[in-house]
Amino acid sequence: MKILLISGHGAGDCGAIGNGYKEADLTRELVKLIDNELKYYEVDVDIYDQKRNAYKDVKNGTFHIKKYDYVFEVHFNAYDKKAHGTEIWVTKLENGISVEQEIVKNLSQYFTNRGVKRENFAVIYKCKKLGISGALLETCFIDNASDMKIYQTKKKDIAKAIAIGIAEKWGLKKKAAPTIKTVQVNSKVKIKSGAVYGGLASTRGKKVPESVIERIHTVKKLQTNKGVQEALLKEINSWVAVSSLTVI
Ligand SMILES: [Zn+2]
Repeated sequence: MKILLISGHGAGDCGAIGNGYKEADLTRELVKLIDNELKYYEVDVDIYDQKRNAYKDVKNGTFHIKKYDYVFEVHFNAYDKKAHGTEIWVTKLENGISVEQEIVKNLSQYFTNRGVKRENFAVIYKCKKLGISGALLETCFIDNASDMKIYQTKKKDIAKAIAIGIAEKWGLKKKAAPTIKTVQVNSKVKIKSGAVYGGLASTRGKKVPESVIERIHTVKKLQTNKGVQEALLKEINSWVAVSSLTVI
């Protein structure tokens, strides 16, 4: 699964302005936040060059992208300072809209849900013509004070809500949390049952007794001895193979 995130406007086009914010700045920030949240999933995510303006590139015939499965373009809305809420646009060619419905549903805990709408906006239409499904998010209204206050205080959660919507409806797997911690100097470790002493002393190759195994040890030094990585454990002043240790 490959996703392209696009920040609306930029490259000399600041987009809408409101409440002291420029749309082009907000779209760039939010795309990075969404990218951060998608890092928790098994998915390849690219960000369209943030120095460029995808809309201008489409109009100028300079919009060149790889093959993606999904394109997600971020914007902020503006109208009369009163209008508020979140909405997503897809092209008239799009069949399913379950991803987009999930995203606006997730965002409805922050903004009024204005729903999923259809319009052949330039970038997503171009993508659809290239065979790539896409959506254009109007996150909230930049000229509405209340929307922007919520956005500024909750933007990380908002990015997460968007990422969860994309991940759930596209069936992205969560990355497994790293469970194996590496043994380092000062690591607190336990010795696995059946371990033998390393090093070069007379104890080498002898079984570590259960009374020692039960204790927690501190790694003082690391070395490679006869091709085996070993740790010197401070409390017993003995070497034990790193493969026989579990970091706690
Ligand atoms: Zn816009």
